[in-house]
Amino acid sequence: MIQFFIGILLGALIGYGAYRAGALTRSGAWAAALTGGLIFGLGGLPWAVLLLTFFISSSVLSRTFVKRKEALSEKFSKGSRRDYGQVLANGGLGSLLAISLALQSDQGWQWVAFAGAMAAVNADTWATELGLLSPTRPRLITSGKVVERGTSGGVTLVGYLAALGGAGLIGAAAAFFTPVIAWLGFVGIVVLAGLAGSTFDSLLGATVQAIYYCPQCQKETERYPVHGCGTETTQMRGWRWLNNDLVNLLCSLMGAMVAVGLGYFI
Ligand SMILES: [Zn+2]
Repeated sequence: MIQFFIGILLGALIGYGAYRAGALTRSGAWAAALTGGLIFGLGGLPWAVLLLTFFISSSVLSRTFVKRKEALSEKFSKGSRRDYGQVLANGGLGSLLAISLALQSDQGWQWVAFAGAMAAVNADTWATELGLLSPTRPRLITSGKVVERGTSGGVTLVGYLAALGGAGLIGAAAAFFTPVIAWLGFVGIVVLAGLAGSTFDSLLGATVQAIYYCPQCQKETERYPVHGCGTETTQMRGWRWLNNDLVNLLCSLMGAMVAVGLGYFI
């Protein structure tokens, strides 16, 4: 019970801090307080460490190389405060797993699923942030066609190495709470889950994710209804309801499922 209250308090503190630091909108801060509180409060220290590893490493990355990234892509052109949709996309599944942990009493699978989900969203965030710095232009994951930087579904070697790093960091953090004898298998599962999740994200981005077009900037974008420049965007391809937040949520779900699936095999 004490852990639960400390968790809620910590989640609220982080949500408020991130709001003050300009990383979250007001709605994003509330969502972060809720998801953070549930994950810290119900999952305890191991879950808190994974969530913080994701939160801190992705915040640091989104604030590095800003100048270069601004020049390269519209995605980073404005002070990108995250709103509640983006927070829930990355932390929503983790909160549900934490609740299931509290209801079901620990059966181990929730921890593996949570590590896989966090590895997937971290891998995806790292790939998005660092992939832009690639010296070569991205290729569409489906056809291999060379596309413009920042195109949804475009992948680069740098992006893949970044995804590997992002998933690896979560795996390393999770290993602290895993018996030494199981390290290799566990970290391997988490890394594969992370790569699978971010690959799935790229696949959806190249195929069925709703993608829009800004007539002003003459660029493809994930933003709707208004582009960063203030112009209304029109739909170009994909399923209208499958927005970027949903794609990220599915990325974390894929990470969790792959981790649990591999966990059964090994
Ligand atoms: Zn525009």
